[in-house]
Amino acid sequence: MKKVVKFGGSSLASAEQFRKVGDIIRSDPDRVYVIPSAPGKRHSKDTKVTDMLYKAYALAEAGKDFDKQLGDIKARYDEIINGLTLDLDLSDEFATIAANFKDKKGSDYAASRGEYLNGIIMAAYLDYEFIDSATVVVFDENGDFDPEKTNKLMAKRLEKTPKAVVPGFYGAYEDGRIKTFSRGGSDITGSIVSRAIKADVYENWTDVSGFLVADPRIIDKPPYIETITYTELRELAYMGASVLHEDAIFPVRKEGIPINIRNTNKPEDPGTWIVESTAKKSRFVITGIAGKKGFCCVNVMKDQMNSEVGFVRRVLQAFEDQHISIEHVPSGIDTMTVFVQEDEFIEKEQAVVSEIHRLAHPDMLEIESDLALVAVVGRGMKSTRGTAGRIFSALAHASVNVRMIDQGSSELNIIIGVENRDFEKAIAAIYDIFVTTQV
Ligand code: ASP
Repeated sequence: MKKVVKFGGSSLASAEQFRKVGDIIRSDPDRVYVIPSAPGKRHSKDTKVTDMLYKAYALAEAGKDFDKQLGDIKARYDEIINGLTLDLDLSDEFATIAANFKDKKGSDYAASRGEYLNGIIMAAYLDYEFIDSATVVVFDENGDFDPEKTNKLMAKRLEKTPKAVVPGFYGAYEDGRIKTFSRGGSDITGSIVSRAIKADVYENWTDVSGFLVADPRIIDKPPYIETITYTELRELAYMGASVLHEDAIFPVRKEGIPINIRNTNKPEDPGTWIVESTAKKSRFVITGIAGKKGFCCVNVMKDQMNSEVGFVRRVLQAFEDQHISIEHVPSGIDTMTVFVQEDEFIEKEQAVVSEIHRLAHPDMLEIESDLALVAVVGRGMKSTRGTAGRIFSALAHASVNVRMIDQGSSELNIIIGVENRDFEKAIAAIYDIFVTTQV
């Protein structure tokens, strides 16, 4: 068995946390490839090393002195090194970093040093080989991650290296310049390494014991999800449930490798399994509920719209021309509605409106704002009768006015549009009917 283990920033924020990580890795000889993040927060008022690096580099770029800021960052690493009593000195690394800051090597370079240095410490601590991700994770000239080139390079490199530390979050262009993924991107590196070695499991260690059925800021102590499919997770993650970077699914999905979300502070918890498909029933009919506020919709009406060829395309063209992505398009016989994110739309709304008029000549058009979308997700919904009925009667009982319903063709999710002010109430009502009353 081969396991890839990725540890998030809070799991590596201090020597004490590093020790827990060391214990976890040493307790299972299958844990052969390790992906560290940069040191995260030690307590709620602390600053992540990645943020410290961005700040220090902003000073460098402005031509200001950044010695103190870089010194503070070095102190974070020294605290870990000394706490672990390692015979390691990062002074030369920091001298190189300072010189590269002066040469304005870029904010991606700066941010990537968080993972790079943590990787050096981790490799020394575990006595694993260190592999600089700049040599194995490739970005193309447009700055897009190149999955196939990376996979070949990574597989070749790891074939020769039975145990290695590969820092998360960054790679490089072919000319060697460093490029990072978006924030939280070490999850993607873990997934890339898992794919390359065809790992049996990708363990993603963080500070929670998995995904929760609902947002704990809305629901008091929701249970953890035991098993969730990649597609269910995509739906929930898109709607705001965040534990894993959303792009981390794609590399492992290619090889059908399961991801196991685990808690570094509670290694005995089984965590959440993210799998391609499963015969395991979820504990409840639904797997999870998530949602987001801040949507608006454009209602377009035209008599006999349904018999006018190309009408929908013309309306949607207006959004495309303004580079606005569309969330949902429920429609009726003579009406269609386009849901968009308010912050993306609001600046361009009048341009969109006039273009819809020009392209599609509707009879009437109106915009509504302050809407929220709630996604009820579950592979079990397909085979359970009455799910939609239960959702809507629960919402009616809670006096929530439903503004939109959209059931995906996969029957994996039902999306409900409600007013922003009813958002929490709607989630609580749905949670009650499917979870509270089931346990
Ligand atoms: N250190 C980076 C961040 O804070 C990447 C990561 O932790 O995954 O976003």
